[in-house]
Amino acid sequence: MIDWNEEQQMARDAIRKFIDAEVVPNIEALEHEGMPPYDIIRKMYQTFGVDEIARARFEKAIEKDELIEAGEEPAEESGTPGDDLGMDTILSMELCRHSAGIVTAMGVTQLAAGAIMSQGNVEQKKHWGLELLTGEKVGSWAITEPGSGSDAFGGMNSTAKLLENGDYALNGSKTFITNGPHADTIVFICKLIEEGVEPRKRKILTFVLDSGMQGLEQSKPLRKMGLHSSPTGQLFLEDVIAGPERLLAGLKNKNPKAKKKKSDPRATFAAERVGVVSMSLGVVERCLELSVEYSKERIQWEKPIGEYQLIQLKLANMEVARFNIQNMLFNYLERKAKGKPMSFSEASAMKLYSTQSAVEVASEAIQLFGGNGYMAEYKVEQLYRDARVMRIYAGTDEMQIRAIARDLLSR
Ligand SMILES: Cc1cc2nc3c(=O)[nH]c(=O)nc-3n(C[C@H](O)[C@H](O)[C@H](O)COP(=O)(O)OP(=O)(O)OC[C@H]3O[C@@H](n4cnc5c(N)ncnc54)[C@H](O)[C@@H]3O)c2cc1C
Repeated sequence: MIDWNEEQQMARDAIRKFIDAEVVPNIEALEHEGMPPYDIIRKMYQTFGVDEIARARFEKAIEKDELIEAGEEPAEESGTPGDDLGMDTILSMELCRHSAGIVTAMGVTQLAAGAIMSQGNVEQKKHWGLELLTGEKVGSWAITEPGSGSDAFGGMNSTAKLLENGDYALNGSKTFITNGPHADTIVFICKLIEEGVEPRKRKILTFVLDSGMQGLEQSKPLRKMGLHSSPTGQLFLEDVIAGPERLLAGLKNKNPKAKKKKSDPRATFAAERVGVVSMSLGVVERCLELSVEYSKERIQWEKPIGEYQLIQLKLANMEVARFNIQNMLFNYLERKAKGKPMSFSEASAMKLYSTQSAVEVASEAIQLFGGNGYMAEYKVEQLYRDARVMRIYAGTDEMQIRAIARDLLSR
């Protein structure tokens, strides 16, 4: 794959038009006035039929699950793996040129939906999955805690206590939770209290919670450096009572011989990492465009600054980064389409390179704009603030390096 196909280019143009009409005029409110992004996301889903596609995919998935729960073998899936991945990538890139926070808010609702769709039973999927997939409801995926981030599972302190009547009492607090202040549906990850088992080794359980449950508090949005259009908050749980119908424990297969399908968490992490790569590309493309324009317009010493070699070096480095990230993404999409997905360490390598490049490019764009670069009006300031978190969430740089090195050293 060396470029987007005609259909994808047409979709990109339509998405750009939508963003110009619906996102750009609201940037001030999203960035500085606390406007939540959810109505824009819903409108975008409806405009491009994302909700209808999600509904159709959902129905297909449920049909298959119902067969599995009845103990039958569903037919092999038709269609190319990664069919719609190109469109998701374009949407994410285009939005990140103006508001990476919208992509984060949208992506985390989908992450919550993904957890329910991969770990839930049919009833749970019907109850919570569909409305998240179509964007009608807002979702959070809560794993990070004040005391555990990179070591999310090992250091986790949130607990589930099994009560005599089969319900669970949930306690703990979560932080940095995207959509936390507004989420209707929360995927809450915690540890089962097991007597005699040391805390680091206790079983991890995943529950689905609804906003407004007794004992559940969702904080106001936290003030942060960038991604202002993505509300981030804390969750506090004090003896929240969750019945077993809220515990995600896979499909209930009636066939006792059927093997339970295990979802590999590394596949989810890899997909999340690649998602951030497309976000980085959006930031890099936009910084490059703005920088080229400014280099031609800005006159110093009676010449456009683009005529100075030090400025040309910045532009050339930006172009190298853009080209590299784009090639990596196309390689990923091509392999996915051929059913040969990237390994976990390759996805980590892509994320490490592209997010570091995006931060470097945005920082150099500010430098190229001089004092104007530091002012909100010239946009590169927001692109830098938005890019910076990409080296932290979906696994910090250091965690990507760890994954890559571990893989290399295990060969
Ligand atoms: C805007 C935003 C949105 C987020 N959204 C969500 C969300 O929706 N849901 C959610 O659950 N979480 C979310 N997070 C949390 C995010 O995933 C964590 O911030 C991230 O995993 C890092 O954890 P931490 O902040 O606790 O840093 P720490 O883990 O405390 O790390 C501190 C530093 O130590 C380094 N470090 C840690 N361990 C090692 C090691 N073994 N070797 C070398 N260096 C190490 C780290 O790389 C980092 O540089 C979000 C964070 C942000 C900023």
